Amino acid sequence: MSGHVKVVVVGAGPSGTYVAGELLSRSPVPCTVDVLDRDLTPWGLVRSGVAPDHPKIKSVTRVFDRIAGREGFAFWGGVKVGSDVTHDDLTRHFDVVVYATGAEVDRRLGVPGEELPGVMGAGTFVGWYNGRVAEAGLVPALDGERAVVVGNGNVAMDCARMLLAPRG
Ligand SMILES: Cc1cc2nc3c(=O)[nH]c(=O)nc-3n(C[C@H](O)[C@H](O)[C@H](O)COP(=O)(O)OP(=O)(O)OC[C@H]3O[C@@H](n4cnc5c(N)ncnc54)[C@H](O)[C@@H]3O)c2cc1C
Repeated sequence: MSGHVKVVVVGAGPSGTYVAGELLSRSPVPCTVDVLDRDLTPWGLVRSGVAPDHPKIKSVTRVFDRIAGREGFAFWGGVKVGSDVTHDDLTRHFDVVVYATGAEVDRRLGVPGEELPGVMGAGTFVGWYNGRVAEAGLVPALDGERAVVVGNGNVAMDCARMLLAPRG
C-alpha cells in the first residue's frame, strides 16, 4: 500500500456516494475514492427513479454535488463492472472495493405474458420518463385507454401518476 488508501466504489447512487463522502471526511488514513457507474451520469435512482414531480426529494443531489467536489473524489461514468472492467481489474488497481450497486434489474415474476410487447418492469418505465440514456429507445404505447400497474407501493403510485399526467 502506498502513502494513501485507494478506494473504488461501484455504483454512484446514494449508498455509494455517502460511502465516498464518509471516507473522504472521516477516514483516519488519507484516501482517494474513485466512483464508477454503468450510467454516464451519477446519483443512481435519485436521478433515474424518483419521479420528476418530486423535486424536493431529488434536491438531495446538492449534498452529492458537495461530496463530489471534495479533494480525492473522482467519478467515472459509463463503466460497467462485469463487462467493461472485471472485479480482478479493480483489485489490481485499488486497495479497497465497495459494491453499492442497488437493485440492478427489474425482478421477473415468471408469469405467462410478461415477455409480451408493452409489458415492462417499473425500473425500465421510470428510467424512460426520467430520461435515462439506457431507456432512450423505449417507446411505451401511450395511445391506449387503459394501463395496468401490478403492485401497490410508492413506485406503483409514481407510475400511475405519470400515466395519468396531462401530456404537454
Ligand atoms: C421509482 C422510484 C421512486 C423512488 N422514490 C423515492 C422517494 O420518493 N424517496 C426516497 O427516499 N426513495 C425513493 N426511491 C428509492 C431510492 O431511489 C433508493 O432507495 C436509492 O436510490 C437506493 O440507493 P442505492 O445507492 O442503494 O442504489 P441505486 O440508486 O440503484 O444506485 C446504484 C447504482 O449502481 C449502478 N450500477 C449497478 N450495477 C452496476 C455495475 N455492474 N457496474 C457499475 N455500476 C453499476 C447503477 O447504475 C446505479 O447508479 C425511489 C425508487 C424508485 C425506483
